[in-house]
Amino acid sequence: MPLPSRLSADTYTEGIRNGDRLMLSRAITLIESTLPRDQMLAAEVIRNCLPYTGKSYRIGITGIPGVGKSTFIDGFGSFLLSQGYRLAVLAVDPSSTRSGGSILGDKTRMEKLSASPNAFIRPSPTSGNPGGVARNTREVMLLCEAAGYEIIMVETVGVGQSEISVSGMVDFFLLLLMPNAGDELQGIKRGIMELADGLVIHKADGLMVSAARQAMAVFTQAVKLFHHDLPEWQPALKTCSSLTGEGYAEVQDMLFLYRKVATARGFWEQKRNMQASQWLDEAIQQQLLEAFYTDPAIVNKLEKLRTEVVASKISPIEAANILLKESKNH
Ligand code: GDP
Repeated sequence: MPLPSRLSADTYTEGIRNGDRLMLSRAITLIESTLPRDQMLAAEVIRNCLPYTGKSYRIGITGIPGVGKSTFIDGFGSFLLSQGYRLAVLAVDPSSTRSGGSILGDKTRMEKLSASPNAFIRPSPTSGNPGGVARNTREVMLLCEAAGYEIIMVETVGVGQSEISVSGMVDFFLLLLMPNAGDELQGIKRGIMELADGLVIHKADGLMVSAARQAMAVFTQAVKLFHHDLPEWQPALKTCSSLTGEGYAEVQDMLFLYRKVATARGFWEQKRNMQASQWLDEAIQQQLLEAFYTDPAIVNKLEKLRTEVVASKISPIEAANILLKESKNH
């Protein structure tokens, strides 16, 4: 959607640097825009902001719908705000799946955070391909860092490809679990569990306290089998409740201990460097694909060859070779 009026890159940058949340929001809208003019302006804003980025703690938070992600982010986020941190919450939801009636990162689901001047909440864009949404999220994180948010939480629904891409752009990947080991093990793919740097058994309150304790025993065993890229780190396991706030301090300790250990071992920086390098490759791939599929010389020929491939008149490989040769000649 085009903006009502574009500002200069410097105006956006200055607003962001001054912690103007409206300006930050408008710059993010620019990033999400597919109009070439907006994209050029967005690239300039990001370039301006780049020197002020990199200092935040980037935390990915996932879990199946209903596990209490919004409630946890609202409660735990407020707990962090009360200690003077500034917090940004972003969401990656390429399918815009509604989870229990809520959209990820929905402001109204995070009442406490939305009332605080020290929190910034950006709901998931409602459209876009998974790659695009993930790419935007990385850029949005940079703007949030330039705006001085020390902690950035990226929320994602725990069921698919978006977890893998989010785990590749954060420092710590946190998986929220139900206080019921049996159901949970079925709901979360093992691969996603293995991406986690920490697991939190949520809703450990009232009648669910004993179930949570049991789940803790089961997951403690499961986690032992996981391999972490940082040999000094065993994926941590905590319980907490967003109803009572019990366990929040332990979750915070876990996050900060990880940062300390990873920084001391040089792993923190190494992982960030690797992520930046990976981002570069993804950007190249994405731009190559975009350039190819939008090349007018290709579009017609592609459809013609596709028909021939379907009719078995030409092999897919040969058709691809013809098209790629054609695009190289441009
Ligand atoms: P999401 O889909 O993962 O974002 O989950 P929500 O945050 O929308 O929470 C799903 C439901 O679980 C809501 O009805 C919440 O009130 C409830 N809930 C969230 N956190 C807790 C908790 O710590 N304890 C209990 N007992 N219920 C919770």
